[in-house]
Amino acid sequence: RLKAVVIGSGVAGLAGAIRLAVMGYEVDVFERNAYAGGKLSFFEKDGFLFDAGPSLFTQPQNIEELFAFAGEPIEDYFQYRKVDLSCNYFFENGKRVKAWTDAERLADELHMQLGEDKAAVLNYLRKSETLYNNIGSVFLNHSLHKRKTWFNKSILKALQTVRLPHLTGTLHGFNQSAFKKPETIQLFDRFATYNGSNPYQTPGMMSLIPHLELNEGTFYPEGGMISITNALVKLAEKKGVRFHFNSAVQRIIQFQGEAKGVVVNDENVFADVVLSNADIYFTYHQLLADPVQTNNVLKQERSCSGMIFYWGMKREFPELHLHNIFFSKNYAAEFNTLFQQKRLYNDPTVYVNITSKMEEGLAPKGKENWFLLINAPSNVGQNWEQMRIQLRQQVIDKLSRSLQTDIASAIETEEYLDPIRIEERTGSFMGSLYGTSSNSKMAAFLRHPNFTNKIEGLYFCGGSVHPGGGIPLCFKSAKIATELIHQDQTKHAYH
Ligand code: FAD
Repeated sequence: RLKAVVIGSGVAGLAGAIRLAVMGYEVDVFERNAYAGGKLSFFEKDGFLFDAGPSLFTQPQNIEELFAFAGEPIEDYFQYRKVDLSCNYFFENGKRVKAWTDAERLADELHMQLGEDKAAVLNYLRKSETLYNNIGSVFLNHSLHKRKTWFNKSILKALQTVRLPHLTGTLHGFNQSAFKKPETIQLFDRFATYNGSNPYQTPGMMSLIPHLELNEGTFYPEGGMISITNALVKLAEKKGVRFHFNSAVQRIIQFQGEAKGVVVNDENVFADVVLSNADIYFTYHQLLADPVQTNNVLKQERSCSGMIFYWGMKREFPELHLHNIFFSKNYAAEFNTLFQQKRLYNDPTVYVNITSKMEEGLAPKGKENWFLLINAPSNVGQNWEQMRIQLRQQVIDKLSRSLQTDIASAIETEEYLDPIRIEERTGSFMGSLYGTSSNSKMAAFLRHPNFTNKIEGLYFCGGSVHPGGGIPLCFKSAKIATELIHQDQTKHAYH
């Protein structure tokens, strides 16, 4: 049997390990932490359960497809349901919008609350769907660095959907020409942050993202986001994958242009295939000690990071739902501060996620588990301690103002995560949430492929490589990488 080593057990590492095991490989996963999941992990504090990282679950078809590939009934491992209300939006001028995952209902709501043109909203969502179905299906599901991707019929069809503003303008410019109300523009600009980008820089092409949330919908995994990790680990074990925790890979063994295995716990572990789920920067810098490739990776801007507060709240807040966003007054100034000045903004947009709204047992009775995410620049050596203390007060002031209540006195217990901790705990270079940003028009093409021509037998998956960050794309990267492994293996067998 052929042997595979997977470095890291983030969502893509887990999905990749499962796929390789199903393909017949003997698979060993080496994980630096004592637990699986990477960013997709959780913790408990004083009776409150918190998902540590991701909070929004979209495109369950990716995990469905993985279970189908493995020939296992997903319902034995993982339950989820659709959420009708994708997000509660709060604007600084006092306006509020409920973003329903039903186009008609959302258009009505935007018309009623903001005076937005209903037809404009419906038209935007239709175009977003067409763009996603054409462009997304080609570019997100295949390697962009293989000729095969470019020489097929669907690419022509896909390219026909692309209009000049998708390529030449920014997402903000695109939204400005689609809507007349500033709040609607801000709401649709926000989708740039789906992959840690800046709406004033990322191309209009990103207008395909709202389709995911507003047409396809958002979903809630029973037990919270950690259930995704738990389901994947259980499936991997069922398929014979062996996990080794507290086992940081020190080096990838290379011989005559081929990956031959890894060094871990000072021992050589030989394998036919190595799949790295570690951040591509650290893969080149630490595991391959390749300064040239490390430098190439450094040329791409990292996605933004985040400051996260986990607050156990003493009481319930009926006006809040699972996902809530409190917008800044001046979005342009906020993104300029984050991406150009690399500082936190003093009137930040605050995202509040509360899973205890969805099921009992995640917080003590009558209380709530708040996960607050504030966009932050990637770590370039700022004074995070000082910035966090300042930010905490700004967030309390903002939420107290918006909800007309004293938030500080409702906090019973708290924890935090900052870009430094994100890098320490998940090996994400500069604490980025989504690998590299999509702020340039060429970002999709410059993101590192899922293989390298320089080292045979070495492949990459996860948020820092193609097609990018976020759980859905991580699932896709594992699929693309393992399909490349399969193709290469078949080629070898043939020769
Ligand atoms: P990671 O989660 O990055 O894990 C990599 C793993 O590799 C880690 O476990 C690490 O310990 C291990 N590793 C690294 N180096 C080594 C080594 N040398 N040896 C052994 N092991 C190693 N996405 C969404 O879809 N929805 C959201 O709402 C969302 N919100 C987010 C909020 C936060 C705060 C964060 C941090 C991320 C969020 N994301 C969200 C992004 C999403 O979490 C990531 O894109 C995804 O989880 C990354 O998975 P990955 O496969 O790249 O691996």
